[in-house]
This record gives sequence, structure tokens and C-alpha cells, in this order.
Amino acid sequence: MKLANRVAALTPSSTLAITAKAKELKENGYDIIGLGAGEPDFNTPDHIIEAAIMAMKEGHTKYTASAGLPTLKKAICKKLLMDQQLQYNPNEIIVGTGAKFVLYSLFQVLLNKGDEVIIPIPYWVSYPEQVKLAEGVPVFIEGNEGNEYKITPDQLEKAITSKTVALIINSPSNPTGMIYSKEELEAIGEICIKHDIWIISDEIYEKLVYFGTQHYSIAQINNKIKEKTILINGLSKSHSMTGWRIGYAAGPKDIITSMTDLSSHSISNPTSIAQYASIAAYEGSQEAVEVMRKAFEARLDVIYNQLIEIPGITCVKPQGAFYLFPNAKEAAKLTGYKDVDEFAAALLEEALVAVIPGSGFGAPNNIRLSYATSLEQLEEAIKRIHQFVVQKM
Ligand code: PLP
Repeated sequence: MKLANRVAALTPSSTLAITAKAKELKENGYDIIGLGAGEPDFNTPDHIIEAAIMAMKEGHTKYTASAGLPTLKKAICKKLLMDQQLQYNPNEIIVGTGAKFVLYSLFQVLLNKGDEVIIPIPYWVSYPEQVKLAEGVPVFIEGNEGNEYKITPDQLEKAITSKTVALIINSPSNPTGMIYSKEELEAIGEICIKHDIWIISDEIYEKLVYFGTQHYSIAQINNKIKEKTILINGLSKSHSMTGWRIGYAAGPKDIITSMTDLSSHSISNPTSIAQYASIAAYEGSQEAVEVMRKAFEARLDVIYNQLIEIPGITCVKPQGAFYLFPNAKEAAKLTGYKDVDEFAAALLEEALVAVIPGSGFGAPNNIRLSYATSLEQLEEAIKRIHQFVVQKM
């Protein structure tokens, strides 16, 4: 069938194959432990659900403004001011159907054919595909294990060309869980200003930070950097609201206006009910957010130490998000597999643990383990991986 070229160039999600296989094995009665989840394992807090029910009963079941309800945009401005001391006006905010669509529409608005976007490796799987869908060209910079997978100012300077339009910074990072310090962000921000390139700051894991580490937004550095930054955030991870599909961008008014025009002809608006729920999420008690954060922190603390005991596995200790991203190259070699992709496939089939191969994140020597599941399941999963490696050595 002849379809559009832009579709032919799309790489299917790397996580899908292994997730589908895990599901199939589970349905056939195998006791699979899935460590692939990209979402918190908690239900949305009750008061948020109640607000959604109330919204429906009160008849808030109609179209809303394309950029989102004015009350929600005000709540987002208040949140950004309180948490990051960042001052935005509601006309500098757009709410969309998840941070994913907000990013998609941002690339559509920013990029012309051939424009380059710098993406640090390892990256969240959708960035390169979304850039390509906007006829842009992803340019990769490799973060290495020795530098906690973070890019350096020197690397950034070298990657910038006359075609560079934007840099993506994702801190805390999916998949590595690493967090850029204020000083690191400052150095990166200054380079972006010097070369006049946009900074796309994906802060979706902002609330999930551990062991006293602080999240810092690059937009907080100074006003010049803020004016070149489009801050992306949402409620999926912080308030366990992945299914509600609410995310947002905060940035220069002209960009937000263009994104709003695009929304008006594509999604119209994010779901009204989910927007009312999000107002309650931001205006109400944040206690549940802290309870979930603490649960992730406690799990990470336990399983990290167990993970690094496994022969052939090295792992930088994450400071945020809910993923571990160990290097498993040596473990694959020790157990006789050609590469880490094959090792991950064998873990599923023989150890009955589903992990995501790092190849989809641009890091083929790694695997991604999500700890968005119970501590009991996590400990059992790590035990199985350990036994699998030792038996095959
Ligand atoms: N950015 C990163 C780094 C993510 O990991 C995700 C979700 O997995 C998103 C953005 C999108 O989140 P959502 O569309 O649920 O708001």
C-alpha cells in the first residue's frame, strides 16, 4: 500500500515487541514479572477522581478553549511560580493531551525541513521520531556512563551547526534517572543563548527526585535563558494521571499561540473532565505526590544495591524518575549472548522478567528496568536475573 513518506520513515516503538511478547507469555500462564512500565503503579489520588466526577455532574462535558481552561492555565502559572519561581502569564501556557502531544506540536511549530534538533543519548524514544515527523533532523550527542550519561558543554558546542534550531534536555531523565545540576544547566544554557537555539526542557519527572537531590529548571537560570526555553511538564508522572492525558508547555507567547492554532485544527482541546481533574490536582493537597515519591525512593534504595551485585552489570545510581538503566554488555557476554538485545530476550523467555532493551533509547549496551511495581515483585525480579546470569556463566 502506498502511504505517506513520513510514515515510512517512522521507527516502531522498541518497547512494543518485548511488551507484546511478555503479554503473550503471561496469557499462556507464565509467571512474568514486567519491569517495562512507563507509568506509576498507583491509582490517581481520590480527590482528583472526585473532582472529575463532580465536573461531569456539573455539566463540564463540553469543548473548552483550545489552549486549555483559563482556570487550569492559572493553576499551572501558580505551580510554576511556587515550585520554580518562574513567572508566566496564562497566554504563555498551552495545555494539551499529554506532554507527548505537546512536544509533537512544538516540533511541528518550530521546525522546517532539514532543521536540526540536538538530542542527548540515551533519549526518550519519541523525541527522534517526533523531530522526523516535523521534517527535522535529529542530531545525537552521546552521554557516557562516566559522566552519568549527561552531555558536556564541549560536546554541545561541537554538535551545533548553522542548521541547529533546538536542544532537548530531559532532567530527570527517562531512561537514566539522571538530573542536571544548576551549574551544568547554566553552562548548557549559555551556549544555547550564544548560538541562539531553543531549549526544550522536558521536566515531566520533576516531582520524582530522591535522596535530597533538587530538581532545577534551566529556565530558572536567568531571564535570557527563560526566553529561549520551552518548558514541558504534565501530571502523568507526578500525580499518577497517565490515562488522563494532560500535559503542558510554558514558553514565549508566539510559540504558544502557534501551538494553539495547531491544536484548534487537530485535537480541538484536551478532555474537559481531565482538565477539571488537573485543576484539583494542582490546587489541592500535594500529600499523595509525596507519598508516591517516597515509595519510589524506598524501592530504589533497596533494589539498586541488589542489582549491582549481579555479575557483569554496572549501574550509575539514579537520582530521579522511576527507572534503572544498567549497562549489561558484560553480563550478555558472560552468559554467551551476542548482544544486550538477545540477553534481554532471553531474560524474558528463561528468567521470566521483562526488561526493555536500551537500543530503543540509543544505548544498545543497556537495559531499562522500571521500579513502578511492588518491592516484593522487584526483589523477586532482581533475584531471577541474578540467578539467570550465574547459572549461564
Ligand atoms: N517525556 C518523557 C521523558 C516521558 O518519559 C514521557 C512519558 O513516558 C512523556 C514525556 C510523555 O508523558 P505524557 O504524554 O503522559 O504527559
